[in-house]
Amino acid sequence: MGRRLALGFGALVTLMLIALMQAAVPLKLVGDGAERFATQDMQRLLRVQALSLQIEGVGVSFIRLLNAPRDTRVAEYADVDEQNRRIDGIIATLGHDLADAQQQETLKRLVACRAIYADAFIATVDEIEGDNPAAAARALTEQVNPALKAMLVESNALLSRERQLVEDQLANAQAMLRRIVWLMAAVSALVVAIAAWLGWRTTRSVVMPLARLESGAKDIAAGNYGHLIEATGLQEVDRVGEALNTMADTVSQRERQISQQAFEDSLTGLPNRAALLQPAQAGKARHNTLALLDLARLKVVNETLGYTTGDSLILALAERARTVVASAAADGLISPEPVLARLAGGTFAIWFGTTSRHDAQALLTQLEHVVEAPVSCSGQLVDLNLVVGFADFGEAGTEQPVETLLRNAEIALHAAKRSAQTHAWYSEAQEAARVGHLGLVTDLRAAVADNQLQMWLQPKFSLATGQAIGVEALVRWQHPVRGFVSPAEFVPFAEQTGHITLVTQWMLQQALATLSSWATPYPHLSIAVNVSTRDLQDPSFAVRVKDMVCASGINPKRLRLEITESGLMDDTRRSIALLHALRDIGLPLSIDDFGTGYSSLAYLQQMPVTELKIDRSFIDKVDASPGTQRLVHAMVEMGHGLGLMVTAEGVETEAEKGTITRLGCDVMQGYLGSRPLHGKALQDWLDRLPAADRAQA
Ligand code: C2E
Ligand code: CA
Ligand code: CA
Repeated sequence: MGRRLALGFGALVTLMLIALMQAAVPLKLVGDGAERFATQDMQRLLRVQALSLQIEGVGVSFIRLLNAPRDTRVAEYADVDEQNRRIDGIIATLGHDLADAQQQETLKRLVACRAIYADAFIATVDEIEGDNPAAAARALTEQVNPALKAMLVESNALLSRERQLVEDQLANAQAMLRRIVWLMAAVSALVVAIAAWLGWRTTRSVVMPLARLESGAKDIAAGNYGHLIEATGLQEVDRVGEALNTMADTVSQRERQISQQAFEDSLTGLPNRAALLQPAQAGKARHNTLALLDLARLKVVNETLGYTTGDSLILALAERARTVVASAAADGLISPEPVLARLAGGTFAIWFGTTSRHDAQALLTQLEHVVEAPVSCSGQLVDLNLVVGFADFGEAGTEQPVETLLRNAEIALHAAKRSAQTHAWYSEAQEAARVGHLGLVTDLRAAVADNQLQMWLQPKFSLATGQAIGVEALVRWQHPVRGFVSPAEFVPFAEQTGHITLVTQWMLQQALATLSSWATPYPHLSIAVNVSTRDLQDPSFAVRVKDMVCASGINPKRLRLEITESGLMDDTRRSIALLHALRDIGLPLSIDDFGTGYSSLAYLQQMPVTELKIDRSFIDKVDASPGTQRLVHAMVEMGHGLGLMVTAEGVETEAEKGTITRLGCDVMQGYLGSRPLHGKALQDWLDRLPAADRAQA
């Protein structure tokens, strides 16, 4: 660039110099001419003029000489002689100076006339000296005057010719000056034109590349990194351009990394929740269905088999789901470009378009098929268990944003978990039912007062002896209008509204009353009452229970309290303190539904509990699943390690019973042993208890 600028300005300066030189030559010529004019031509003109004057003067002096008295004649002679000498002097110098041939000719004629005048002069002087005035006057008139006249004619010819020459020279000089002016104007115009052209070239070759650099930099600032700045051939500009390109590259790379970190799940490399919900996804209007996949039991796997195993499960599910989703899209089962994202922990979302729920269901079947094979983690086989909540645009097909689909799928997922199903669809009916349930629980107060509630009891058996060791109290609601309402239907909602504390209070009263009545026939049977999260939030709960137990007079060891893991975790410090207060009364405590919550084993160690109830989802078909067996075994080991009694819930088959016995469980509860009992059925069961059971009384 510098070279171009130097070249451009160099060319301009050279042009100016050439122009000046062009003007200098004629100017010098004009200068020389003027000098010559002043020193030679003008001098010559003056001399020729002087010659004419001298010739006229001689004529006058002659007349004066003719009329002069003899005694003054000498001075008059001297005057005439002087004038003759001057005339001769001028003629002599002109002989050297006259360059013009015509002038030379005229001069020759003048010299000839001078000779005639010289003769006439002598003849006239002779007549004067001979005192012959009349002859002298005649000689003057007839010889001298004509000779002088002839000389004057020639001299005037010389003069006018000289004038002519001077005028010619002046005209020449003027013409030359005009030419110089024209030349200078032309050259100046040319220089201006060339300077303009050079300026334009410089703008093109310097300013425009600079402007391109500027716009490139603005592009980078605006986040368009794709526009490479092209090479211009200008070294300096290209260097800056290259630096800008490198910068754009680096910045875009770093930006990609940052957005990758922000929108990508680091473990699986899948899009994360933010990526699923980002506005760029809003265009996918064809995506009308969202499946929320939950890897059940991940928490237990993490805590019993380690987080590495948990991560392996997540990775395996991610990989298998990715394959299934891709092939389903390729086969046209679902629309192209489905989004598979990992939202948190073991929760994944598949967002896709489908023409029918049937096809979505087919996708689920494929998923269930691929997760059937257990995952091998450091030599151990672990099962993958999926629970899925589906949400779509509904019957009306009203378009919904992905956020809404996600929220609805979450509701469906919870519903599936509550009803122990592998999947559930979100439907407005479900939402309406939810709202209905919430309405229902407000009837609970009346239910308690009107004795619509019943306490059913489900026996628990020692696996070592086969004997009944106690029962779990389960609430039942006989609604005057709706009929029987399952606790699964109203307990979660009663917990939400806080009405559950009424139920707990009522169940505790019933259990204590029953225990009092059993004091003699079945003193070894305990009753376990389910306590809700809401109860644990009430600081006076322990005091109330203590008062009730004291008032009943029963042995506190016979009233067991079941607490769910999740209930404990909300405010760990306070719940641990409350558990200690309850334990201080002498009540045994159980952790219910173990394996489904999100507890941490570290806290479990600090809890004064005596029983661990493994959730029934682990027991279901445990005999057929080596992976689940591993988990159950790990849980049993851990429970025993903490000195706890381990109970298996929901045992339905002999095979399951055999397996849990082998795995080391202490107690079983489930339909195999007995369904929950009430009224006559309960009494019959109690009556059938072997004598040995009663013998302990
Ligand atoms: P839970 O505490 O885990 O109670 C055990 C549930 O499993 C009971 O369901 C019982 O009927 C069922 N069950 C027992 N054995 C089997 C089996 O072999 N197979 C199957 N599939 N199920 C079996 P239920 O009575 O419907 O209670 C459901 C849940 O409602 C309970 O689960 C408990 O969380 C809650 N609940 C029940 N009664 C009360 C109560 O009085 N207070 C509170 N706070 N919650 C209660
Ligand atoms: Ca329970
Ligand atoms: Ca349970």
